[in-house]
Amino acid sequence: MRPLVVVNVAMSADGKLSTRERRQVKISGAEDFARVDRLKADCDAVMVGIGTVLADDPSLTVKNPDYKRKRQSSSRPEHPVRVIIDSRARISPDASVLTKGDGLRVVAVSGRADPARVDVLRKKAMVIVAGEVEVDLARVLDELGVMGIRRLMVEGGGTLIAGLVRAGLVDEIYTYIGSIVIGGKDAPTLADGPGWITEAEFARLVLADVTRMDDGILIHWTVKPQ
Ligand code: NAP
Repeated sequence: MRPLVVVNVAMSADGKLSTRERRQVKISGAEDFARVDRLKADCDAVMVGIGTVLADDPSLTVKNPDYKRKRQSSSRPEHPVRVIIDSRARISPDASVLTKGDGLRVVAVSGRADPARVDVLRKKAMVIVAGEVEVDLARVLDELGVMGIRRLMVEGGGTLIAGLVRAGLVDEIYTYIGSIVIGGKDAPTLADGPGWITEAEFARLVLADVTRMDDGILIHWTVKPQ
C-alpha cells in the first residue's frame, strides 16, 4: 500500500516558489516554519526532487528538539526517512540531505543513472532503481510503502509535484501564500513541467481549511481521486 502523500509548499502572492534563477526566497515566517517542522516530524518520510537539492541544498531534518524527542520516545528515528528523486544520480555525496542528521536516506534513480555514481551513492543511501528515463514515482511510492512508510511529505519542487499530480499520487496539499510578489514567467510554481491541456486532465481539489498565518494565509486542500 502506497503512503498517504502530503505536499507542502510556500508560494508568493503571485504563485511563485522561488526566483526565475531558482534562488530560494523567504516567503513565510516563524509560525509557518514551526508548522512545517511539525508536519515533517509527523511524517515517516520527506521527499524532494533533485532540482531542489541542487538549488537549495536542504537537510530536510526536524529542527525542534521536542519533536525529535517525541519521535524517539515512540521508537522512531529523530528525522523522517529522506527521499530524493534523481533519475541521473546527480546528487553530490556531500549534499546536506545525505550528510546532516542521522537516519535513512533513499535516492530513487532510473535506468539512465551512471552505475559508477550509483555505487558511490550506495555508501550514503539506499538506492531504488525505478523507471527507464525519469523516475517511476508510483513504483517508488510502492517500495516506500513496503518499507513501512505510511505518511510521506513532499517538499517540492514544482517539477516533482507536477509529476506526482500527473500520476494521481497526491492526497493533500498545503500551500502557504506569503505577502510578496516574486514575478517572472520562468519562476517555479506549484506544478511545473509541461502542464495539462484539457479540463478533464486537471487535478480537482477540495478546500479543507484556510488559516491566517504570519503575513499570509495557509490553505489546506485535499485532492479528489482521479
Ligand atoms: P524539483 O521538482 O525539485 O526536481 C525535479 C527533477 O526531479 C526533474 O528535473 C528531474 O530531474 C527529477 N525527476 C526524476 N523523475 C521525475 C518524475 N517522474 N517527475 C518529476 N521529476 C522527476 O526541481 P524544480 O522544479 O527545479 O524545483 C526547484 C525549485 O523549487 C528551486 O528554485 C527551489 O528553491 C524551489 N522550491 C521551493 C519550495 C517552496 O516551498 N517555496 C519548495 C521546494 C523547492 P532529472 O531528470 O535529472 O532526474
